[in-house]
Amino acid sequence: MSKLRLATVWLGGCSGCHMSLLDIDEWLIELAGQVDLVYSPLVDAKEYPTGVDLVLVEGAVANQDHLRMIREVRERSKLLISFGDCAVTGNVTALRNVLGTAAPILQMVYAERADIQPQLPYEPGIVPVLLDRVEPVHAIVPVDLYLPGCPPPAARIRALLEQLLAGVAPQLVGREMIKFG
Ligand code: SF4
Repeated sequence: MSKLRLATVWLGGCSGCHMSLLDIDEWLIELAGQVDLVYSPLVDAKEYPTGVDLVLVEGAVANQDHLRMIREVRERSKLLISFGDCAVTGNVTALRNVLGTAAPILQMVYAERADIQPQLPYEPGIVPVLLDRVEPVHAIVPVDLYLPGCPPPAARIRALLEQLLAGVAPQLVGREMIKFG
């Protein structure tokens, strides 16, 4: 039987969700026997491939690169999981929304509050353009499953992946499996 093609994606997040994935520890070896990791910050793939069975998406959609990426990910993936509170609700990444749109925030952070060399970040093709609002993943593309937590604990990630690998409809039950934060 061919292995499940797994991907993980890092949008506007702190990488804590990916760190929690690594906290699965020795079960990662078992996981590696059952999946092909075809795209992830943990491997060196440059392009998001087609025909991905399952993708964990960490982080909110905060800039133009994220927007392009999440649309491509959705198009090329069968099952998309919002991985962690930033992906599910915006969470920490979306805290800037209360301060207004991108331009005044950039002005405040990089110009008004700079001690030396006030200068707005601008390098087309290198520094992605911020969106005016940070959005959770489901506000941009359809999401199939939600895995809350900041970060989701390793046991919760493992429980979800085990059910998916067993081919059963995943159910996370009980406070420890579904609480945010
Ligand atoms: S949910 Fe928490 S751990 Fe995950 S990216 Fe956001 S802030 Fe980091």
